Amino acid sequence: MTLLLHIDGKDRPASDGRTLAVRNPATGEHLFDAALGTAADVADAVAAARAAFDDGRWRATHPRERARVLNRAAALLAERIDDYAALETRQIGRPLREMRAQLRRLPEWLEYFAAVAQTAEGTVPNFGPDHLNVVHRVPLGVVGLITPWNHPLLITMKKLSAALAAGNSVVLKPSELGPAVPHRLASLLEEAGVPAGVVNVVTGDGATTGRALSEHPGLNKLDITGGTETGRAIAANAGRSLIPVTAELGGKAPVLIFDDAAIEPAVAGALFAAFIASGQTCVQGARTLVHRSIYEPFVQRLVERAGGLRLGDPMDPATQVGPLVSAGQRDKVADAVQRARAQGARVLCGGRAPDRPGWFYEPTVLAGVARDHELWREEVFGPVTLVAPFEDEDDAVALANDSPFGLAGSVWTRDVGRALRVCDKLDIGIIWVNDHHRIDPASPWGGAKDSGIGSENGLEAYRGYTRPKSVILNTSDRPFDWFAGPDDLRYS
Ligand code: NDP
Repeated sequence: MTLLLHIDGKDRPASDGRTLAVRNPATGEHLFDAALGTAADVADAVAAARAAFDDGRWRATHPRERARVLNRAAALLAERIDDYAALETRQIGRPLREMRAQLRRLPEWLEYFAAVAQTAEGTVPNFGPDHLNVVHRVPLGVVGLITPWNHPLLITMKKLSAALAAGNSVVLKPSELGPAVPHRLASLLEEAGVPAGVVNVVTGDGATTGRALSEHPGLNKLDITGGTETGRAIAANAGRSLIPVTAELGGKAPVLIFDDAAIEPAVAGALFAAFIASGQTCVQGARTLVHRSIYEPFVQRLVERAGGLRLGDPMDPATQVGPLVSAGQRDKVADAVQRARAQGARVLCGGRAPDRPGWFYEPTVLAGVARDHELWREEVFGPVTLVAPFEDEDDAVALANDSPFGLAGSVWTRDVGRALRVCDKLDIGIIWVNDHHRIDPASPWGGAKDSGIGSENGLEAYRGYTRPKSVILNTSDRPFDWFAGPDDLRYS
């Protein structure tokens, strides 16, 4: 089977017929091929999206109608979750139990943004007594969406539901490692009533297809989730054409465990933060920082629990930790741990690829990682967390903020005042207190520093898919002639 490009409502191969192979990370088995979209295919997709935007087939519909269509899509998606979850698991190796839990939430994004489409309002700034200023929020036009492999449908859904609710047309470039479900979403949306040409999908790789999309001057916005270096390259390309960018990039989330936290729930929280999705999430708890007075018992228990996680076939509902997405990703993780060892880190558990087929790596806890070691600063994107002690609240905040990233983090304490003080001082976009990883379509998702620009989810995301259009009406009945007027001219 070959997954084709989806342009103007029709599936077709790449213009030069090239494809790339998609494999099952748990076995290495070849699953299917996907069209490798060329720059010419990207140009066709942008042209189709532009035509759809310009003739108003989606943009100009009543927001209530757009909302109805998005709600219909939510209902169709809910019926197909189990199929899509199984397909995602086969492509990216994330355990089926996790994939189902994640995908079951996704209709909520369509429902939330359907509600926003109907309730969003413009503003009426106070322009003074002689004018009425009406500011509409209008869609941007054609937006390019570039998404990663780690949560293929979730991340596509976050961007697409906001973009469509606002009335934009879209060209989506999913990751070459997990294109099938985002691709199916395009047909599902058309089945629900989104007109052909509004959602176009160009499968392919980053170097060819992604790059062509990010260099296309005909876009009105680019929204990328990926690694920080990819984000920089894409933003630089977009900058040449003055195309605005939203970028959700890397992280190195701190998990701060204070001495008043109950140990078992905090260990369970740190485990959840570090090893869900085999650690392949941007908000992974990669630096577990623990108050010195409870450091030893906490770490002992964390290591026990990490060593007991069930690694195996991701299609088996009992499996808790699946493989990494590719041989390259597994090697990247193994190299990072090896370099940390060479710099003096101690492996408390894991630290090796088990002897079995597929691209597995054991849940790993490292101690003795210093602030100038690579592993403190660099994103590993795998099942690896470091543990380090802190002395007091100020020390905890200083360690947590000592990172080029500022995407997410969590604070574990029963002291409300402390939780709020620490949240206030963290230079981070998303902070959970006594929790981690939780997400809601209404809640902004975005980071500080090298973790990106802008925000997904919530009203922020909706506004990010619109621009203001300011209409100023003269309501005065006084005669006006600039060149025949008095000497003390006024602009207002
Ligand atoms: P990549 O940066 O490798 O890829 C992201 C997307 O960009 C993919 O579609 C990729 O295509 C494409 N791409 C790669 N190079 C280019 C290029 N030069 N021009 C245009 N497009 C390009 O990230 P991963 O897919 O490996 O995902 C992991 C990264 O994503 C991690 O750093 C993680 O932290 C981050 N992430 C951030 C999240 C957030 O919310 N902040 C959430 C999830 C992940 P292809 O894969 O086909 O090569």
